[in-house]
Amino acid sequence: MKLERSKQLFEEAKKVMPGGVNSPVRAFSSVQMDPPFIKKGEGTYIYDEDGNKYIDYVGSWGPLVLGHCHPEVVKNLKEVVETGTSFGAPTEIETRTAQLIVDTIPSIDMIRMVNSGTEATMTALRLARGYTGRSKIVKFNGNYHGHSDSLLIKAGSGALTHGVPNSPGVPEDVVKNTITAIYNDTENIEEIFKTYGEDIAAVIVEPIAGNMGVVPLTQEFADKLRSITEKYGSLLIFDEVMTGFRVAFEGAQSLYNIIPDLTCYGKIIGGGLPVGAFGGKKEIMSKLSPIGPVYQAGTLSGNPLAMMAGYTTLKILKENPEIYKDMDRRGEKLAEGLKNIVEELGIKASFNRVASMLCMFFTDQPVVNFETALTSDTEKYALYFREMLKRGIYLAPSQFEATFINAAMGDEEIIKTLQAAKEALMEVKR
Ligand code: PLP
Repeated sequence: MKLERSKQLFEEAKKVMPGGVNSPVRAFSSVQMDPPFIKKGEGTYIYDEDGNKYIDYVGSWGPLVLGHCHPEVVKNLKEVVETGTSFGAPTEIETRTAQLIVDTIPSIDMIRMVNSGTEATMTALRLARGYTGRSKIVKFNGNYHGHSDSLLIKAGSGALTHGVPNSPGVPEDVVKNTITAIYNDTENIEEIFKTYGEDIAAVIVEPIAGNMGVVPLTQEFADKLRSITEKYGSLLIFDEVMTGFRVAFEGAQSLYNIIPDLTCYGKIIGGGLPVGAFGGKKEIMSKLSPIGPVYQAGTLSGNPLAMMAGYTTLKILKENPEIYKDMDRRGEKLAEGLKNIVEELGIKASFNRVASMLCMFFTDQPVVNFETALTSDTEKYALYFREMLKRGIYLAPSQFEATFINAAMGDEEIIKTLQAAKEALMEVKR
């Protein structure tokens, strides 16, 4: 595979941007190679600067559920751009987008648009603290909610801990109110609430985690989170930045039949442009400025281009529920095909899949939380990734990410992927 031009562009980029990228995972460090530079996308395919063509299982890390350059999204964006790119004033498309979500998702009475998932979770926590008058929050090991200070935290030592900062630059003082918990561990969450319950403003959780590979909550644990937060008067925040409008239009909360107090969105809600959002019960959302005391603002929030990309994407998804059935069927076909190949080759692997999100972990253990996800052989994943890329399959460049099916993907692409996987996994087996 030729990657000469990408290599040259990466060298230039590294001179002027830290690591040559604007978000770390794009540097491909964990798969030990330089990244292809992407020139264009079309449907389920992306093309790099050297002319290589790939089936795209990343979809910009989730937003492009309809594939690249969906004709309706492109057409509507072109129309909007001719009328101006930003006003910092109310526009009709903001209300249309909010209305579409409020009309469909039972937990959302009101919603506020922001510019990223990070902003959504950061502000949802501020709102939860402002609403409850409490300081502490609970976050699960291996869940990612963006890069705001109080969420950049890893587990401390010991079973029941306040976490420690995950990055230099995050003061101990900032994370001292963040408690880390073990995903899917009932005893652990009970213990945390017994000790700190009256001070806990909120539990934030990825209901189907996609940032330690794909790891769903068990129904039992999801129910536990709902009941224990209710019991102690804490808020339950579902971070559906990845799962919202993906695992179902109504998100993971509809699969678990749970009404969270607040929900955070990102990715698909912007249809490939920068949007995040958080929403929930009117009583809580009314605490937000300008009608309430909890402050939040944004120069480009509700930007007309971003709203139009999001609105068009959401409308297509809402009006065509068969899209979800098709993606689920293709997800199943891919996962079953991969399972057969690893079994045939005698490779130890464990699979998690919910609808169009899936993950093959190179471990023989069932993966139920961060601790078990870490038993994966990341060297094997790196080799598998490189062999797949050579064969025109663009997977996430890390074991601990999701593989996304998109609506532009057909059976043909799944078959091609499985053919490539068979050859790639034979190299892993060697
Ligand atoms: N929450 C979840 C579940 C995510 O997957 C991500 C990003 O991957 C975020 C929050 C942060 O979103 P953003 O990268 O838009 O800031």
